[in-house]
Amino acid sequence: MVSTIAPPVPGGGRPRPLGYLFELGSGRLCLDFANTVDSRPTGSPRELLPTYAELLDWSRQSGILTREEERGLRSRAERRGAEASRALTRARRLRESLFQLFSGPAAGRRQSPPRTLLACLTTAFRTPVLRGHRLLWEDDRTRLDFVIGPVVRSAVELWTSTEIDRVRVCAAEECAWLFLDESRNRSRQWCDMTVCGNRAKARRFYLRARSGARAEGGRRRR
Ligand SMILES: [Zn+2]
Repeated sequence: MVSTIAPPVPGGGRPRPLGYLFELGSGRLCLDFANTVDSRPTGSPRELLPTYAELLDWSRQSGILTREEERGLRSRAERRGAEASRALTRARRLRESLFQLFSGPAAGRRQSPPRTLLACLTTAFRTPVLRGHRLLWEDDRTRLDFVIGPVVRSAVELWTSTEIDRVRVCAAEECAWLFLDESRNRSRQWCDMTVCGNRAKARRFYLRARSGARAEGGRRRR
């Protein structure tokens, strides 16, 4: 089957009855994938892909796997534990490269793509298959590291497009999620206004209240 990449659904992807619900609001598949770590700048980042099962959950929710493909890979991973864990390690390494790559431009610094990303390019591009009189480019959708292909392609597309200038790092101190700023005046600061934006506003309010209390000689302090 020729692969199609469904665009990520803003605001958290498709609801799933079971499993973790990932945030897929960054605007690009590769950035959503880079955002599978929470609280990256803190001393204790939270891994959102602790096992291969969550990698499949993410792939399914992102729309790059059908339910049947997801089931097939899940049962294959159960039979081939070592291969699944290698696929997970590769995917996580790719994710860290993506963060490195896109947090650079986001901070105003262009840089060369990291070696891990370049190494993934060979798996990212499809294999030519001749079917009758038609040449098709197909993904091997039974590979346990299948997810790497669509994610790398999305990264290369973004990296080589003018949209690269719109990649931002969330301004919230503990977040550092990446997103594409598609606002008209390019002023979006937070990955999600309802989470990081409100947290930042609450923090500013707290700091203002505290400095106000100081200016008034600490009368409001308990
Ligand atoms: Zn954020």
